[in-house]
Amino acid sequence: MRAVRQRRIWLGLLAISLMMAVLLGRLVWIQVIDTGSFSRREVDLVANSVAQREAGIELDSGRGQFYDRNGLPLTGERVRALVVFPVRRTEREDDAALNEVAAILRADESAWREFYRSADIPKMWADDAGLPIPLTNEQARRIAALSIPGVEVMETVRRYPADAVAKHVIGFVGENPQRIETLFADRLSSGAISLSTRIGAAGLEKTMERYLQGAGKTSVSLFTDGARRPLSGLDVRLVRPNNPYYPLRVDLTIDAGIQREVERILKSNGIASGAAVVLDAANGDVVAMASLPDFDPYRIDLKDGSWGNKALKAITPGSVFKTVVAIAALEEGVVSPGETFHCDGDFGKYGLHCWLHGGHGTITFDQAFADSCNVVFAQVMQRLSGAKLQEVAERLGLNRQVGWMTDDGEEGGVWRQFDSEERGQIFAGRVPSEDEGVRVQTAIGQRDVLISPLQAANLVVTLLNGGEVRSPRIVRDVRYSTGTLVRFFPERKLSAGDSGISAEHAATLAQWMRKVVLDGTGKSLRQAKWQLAGKSGTAETIANGKPAVHQWFVGYGPADKPEYAVAVVAQNEPENGVNRSIAAFRDIMDMLVGR
Ligand SMILES: [Zn+2]
Repeated sequence: MRAVRQRRIWLGLLAISLMMAVLLGRLVWIQVIDTGSFSRREVDLVANSVAQREAGIELDSGRGQFYDRNGLPLTGERVRALVVFPVRRTEREDDAALNEVAAILRADESAWREFYRSADIPKMWADDAGLPIPLTNEQARRIAALSIPGVEVMETVRRYPADAVAKHVIGFVGENPQRIETLFADRLSSGAISLSTRIGAAGLEKTMERYLQGAGKTSVSLFTDGARRPLSGLDVRLVRPNNPYYPLRVDLTIDAGIQREVERILKSNGIASGAAVVLDAANGDVVAMASLPDFDPYRIDLKDGSWGNKALKAITPGSVFKTVVAIAALEEGVVSPGETFHCDGDFGKYGLHCWLHGGHGTITFDQAFADSCNVVFAQVMQRLSGAKLQEVAERLGLNRQVGWMTDDGEEGGVWRQFDSEERGQIFAGRVPSEDEGVRVQTAIGQRDVLISPLQAANLVVTLLNGGEVRSPRIVRDVRYSTGTLVRFFPERKLSAGDSGISAEHAATLAQWMRKVVLDGTGKSLRQAKWQLAGKSGTAETIANGKPAVHQWFVGYGPADKPEYAVAVVAQNEPENGVNRSIAAFRDIMDMLVGR
């Protein structure tokens, strides 16, 4: 009994020291518990360890963790779980105590007993996905007080917390023996990882893999004698890697609080499928990036694709693309300032109409932008070549990947922070078309134009930064456990030589976006807390064989001193339905006030 108590004290001390270490921002690594003071049976542990050591149970994979920009953990939740170790049957039969555990766990008595009795290797009380079922303080205390041989409460790391945010950004891990053999042969042969080690399969888990592999796992094992009796005092052994620098920590630019609110706002506006991106207006850093539908990183359905990050997927932009056409027209000088156009509601060919029946009448170019007049933009596009439009679009960070990248990838390739960022296109196959019918459809953001929400938000950042295109960052740095820097990712501009537009035209379009809210299609935003600016888009598409629309709103706020650029898209909404993206845009901006 004394030995049992001593062991519990030991584990308690371990838990406390671990917590203290975490609190102090340092991790204390213990290779193996000092067994000297416990060797009452004079056991030669080294000689007997193989024979006596039962299969261990993993408490922490040792994989690096993600943190938000304020140092809040996004992965690696510490939970307490119940572990059953195999001990000799005669020492395990205490029906009353076992029944009490079932009651404490609120588990079915026979299911719990079956679990307990069948534990011929250490096992964790887990759900159907193999996830440890977290114990409350009260549950942990009561189970520990029962002192049942082989039943322990232990702290373990749940990589993806139950209330995790930014799940699509972070992605998920999975077994991939082939990838390990190909990419990590050295670590495999050194024994640092095994073929069954879970590695990044999507998101930052995948792109940051080179920094995430740890120095080894933390596991706990039970030592028994030949008759499976626990070795008194030294039966439960914790093994941890002896490396003070690991696991590494990956610091993101995301703000977990804002991210959580953005995710909530998309849902509360009834958006079932879509995305929102919040960028720092000054440098393009990703403050929040949300995607719907939601998914469970422990139950991946590779086919249904809900785990894919829609903020990085290129879709039809609709009238958001008029921003690009307007800039191209100004840069090329094909429209003179103050020039007026006429819209009678029908372009007259290619089946192109204005969304406003009867038309906008005589209208200036900037008012046509604010009112999103299709006919005027088709007329302007008649003066522009497809090649020129595509060139300007590329200078604005479209028709190309825009996220942070460098050239030190695997096998001399490119390394990107974002996983599977789509580059989108302006024309089919990214080949400019000079066909007038194609050009005018392209001018209103239909036909073959594809843009991702990240690109759309970054386009706004470009307008707010004198026409210079940023390359948005989502990872700021990687650090050792000690806090020492491993790598810093500096703010970047998109390859300077072939990007950017004139500061004058960038400022003009930023102003026109203000007009959209004051006197155009964004009037419903006039009641927002901040003065806002932006551009709407309603892109026609087909969903499940039926006509549908992607509702877009991209813009910035506050208008006089921009802090954030935001893009919201609600995908595959019914035609003529309520505009969910503009409502979500407003809610996001209202939420950002004072943050
Ligand atoms: Zn019109």
